[in-house]
Amino acid sequence: MHGKEKEVVMVVAHQVLSAMHAKLENPYHVALEQYDRAVRYLEISDGVKEFLKYPRREFTVNFPVKRDDGTVEMFTGYRVHHNTVLGPSKGGIRFSMAVNLDEVRALAMWMTWKCALVGLPYGGAKGGVIVDPKTLSPHELESLTRRYASELIPLISPHSDIPAPDMGTNPQVMAWFMDTYSMTVGYSVPAIVTGKPVNIGGSEGRNEATGRGVIICMEESLKDKGRYRAEDIRVAIQGFGNVGSNAALYAHSLGYRVVGVSDIEGGIYNEHGLDVEAARVHLKKYGNFDGFVGGERINNEELITCDCDVLIPAAMEGQLTQHNAPHIRASLIVEGANGPTSPAADDILNERGIQVIPDILANAGGVVVSYFEWVQDLQSFFWDEDEVHRQLERAMRKSYLKTQEMAEKHDVDMRTAAQLTAIKRVADAVTVRGFYP
Ligand code: NAD
Repeated sequence: MHGKEKEVVMVVAHQVLSAMHAKLENPYHVALEQYDRAVRYLEISDGVKEFLKYPRREFTVNFPVKRDDGTVEMFTGYRVHHNTVLGPSKGGIRFSMAVNLDEVRALAMWMTWKCALVGLPYGGAKGGVIVDPKTLSPHELESLTRRYASELIPLISPHSDIPAPDMGTNPQVMAWFMDTYSMTVGYSVPAIVTGKPVNIGGSEGRNEATGRGVIICMEESLKDKGRYRAEDIRVAIQGFGNVGSNAALYAHSLGYRVVGVSDIEGGIYNEHGLDVEAARVHLKKYGNFDGFVGGERINNEELITCDCDVLIPAAMEGQLTQHNAPHIRASLIVEGANGPTSPAADDILNERGIQVIPDILANAGGVVVSYFEWVQDLQSFFWDEDEVHRQLERAMRKSYLKTQEMAEKHDVDMRTAAQLTAIKRVADAVTVRGFYP
């Protein structure tokens, strides 16, 4: 084969492989398969079953951003409302190169189930922009955020759709979002987004809420398995951003042994336990874990299969697959990320007796405190941190117990139990409201 032909064959092979990979890991296919697995336990009409599979609205925006050097670059963003039957839609905004419409659809659908499971008066939404925020200067990041926010104005308001942070976005991004909306309508509207800085209407305790909620779920599951000492439980966490680092810090503060953590460039492992605060400071200072003295360097695949009792995937979807599930050594998995486990991996883990606390339950702490923030903003009456932590803990433990009861009632795993509890709540609301017109 000549060089050119060989190149064409390789390109085609790459495309076929990518298509296969995309089909296997497509998060929307995963979300739909999870839905199908759960919905068969429910007695709901075929019309309602079909209705709940579809996103209500999908919005795509293409917009320009002026770079610091004066050049103009086009970006693409999305906002999807999956369901709005229980209330305004709620969901984060992701800035990542991996963003695509199917990913946003899946994340919006999971938000519908998450809000329903924990009893919030919200539907589900998600948004994202295809961008690596690390490649933008602070000024470019602000311009991109403001233009994307302004493109979403027809969709968002404190009573229709309330964004929040997710991968690649943070309280500063939410502040620009809130300012852009407020400047457009002509007065300050703190309730337009959650996850804002506290000094402009953010809630105490929001930043660490998702990570804390993950650890609360971990504790509930460990308690179920019998008496234990925190220092004997070895925890490994993939992803050291908002969710992963706060889960690690909270677990460490409660006395658990955090043996492994990682970010996109790999991680660190120490069987005796890591100094989590030192790891956080190191990552902030150097941008990766190279040169960290308190642990050996490992890659992300090694983190997933490392020797530990609890594995917390807290990076992104599609991380636990049929390829690595047979090698996972943890006996408990608590999903900090959304959609980290494929259905095929779920089957393997269930068969191996490894309990999985699903994303829509385990990482719901973020949206629970986002709800508290929204309520505080609408009432202009703010709670102290202890009150937020107390209410978060109450909501998480209650949701855990509700899910566990459902799992026992139907003799199903925790993911199916969480999904069917959530789907039932939304389906009942659809049924009583009826279809318009
Ligand atoms: P983040 O951007 O703050 O952190 C993401 C972390 O994951 C970073 O450490 C990054 O380096 C790492 N990472 C990214 N890709 C990776 C890969 N392929 N392998 C290993 N590590 C990788 O994001 P976050 O807000 O912590 O969100 C993480 C996950 O949790 C996402 O799935 C998100 O949807 C979910 N989640 C977040 C919240 C929230 O309140 N922030 C709430 C619920 C769920």
